[in-house]
Amino acid sequence: MKQYKTLMMALFLFSILCFSRVNAMTHDYTLLGKTIYIDPGHGGPDSGAISKNFYEKEMNLVLSKKLGKYLSEKGALVYYTRDGDYDLAKSKNNRKRNDLYARVKLINNSKCDLYISMHLNASPSRKWNGIQIFYSNVLKENKKVAEVITNTMKENMKNVREYKKENGYYMYSKLNVPGVLVEAGFVSNPNDNYKIRQEEYQDILVKNIAKGVEVYFS
Ligand SMILES: [Zn+2]
Repeated sequence: MKQYKTLMMALFLFSILCFSRVNAMTHDYTLLGKTIYIDPGHGGPDSGAISKNFYEKEMNLVLSKKLGKYLSEKGALVYYTRDGDYDLAKSKNNRKRNDLYARVKLINNSKCDLYISMHLNASPSRKWNGIQIFYSNVLKENKKVAEVITNTMKENMKNVREYKKENGYYMYSKLNVPGVLVEAGFVSNPNDNYKIRQEEYQDILVKNIAKGVEVYFS
């Protein structure tokens, strides 16, 4: 009986050892200590790009939450500028500018290591398609973020366009921490519009953005 008990105890300890090893292997906390702000574009009265009954603001939030989940699993502390269908404007006068200003304040005050702004593109022509990352050169570092995430995504996805400098957006020129704007596809392109609504594709997309973030911090 004593021998049996010893054997059971040994088996128990062995299984704990195996389990914790597997756990350690599946959870590599590569983003531990990093704070990342995710900014789902638009919200509330501002729907962003619209195509039939497809609202950009809704998809931005879906993609942002998925991205946040992957980044947290890798150990990052993740914040969102919004986590529901609302905007951040404090007054109805100049509402859009007010909303963007509130986002800038949140992100800058957080002193986070990185921000990712999630949007979808739209064009009068249906033929424009693909994912594209934009950066403002208000910070030198932003170009590197755009380059690393774009190149990482290109390794696993076909529809990634070259990253581009864009200094014309109010919000990104005011941010004093590194980050980029991700335009995750064109709602005006039938193929992009279809793909972005498929959960499987959404997972591939955000996993590759998260991978790019990992590479950037490595
Ligand atoms: Zn947008």
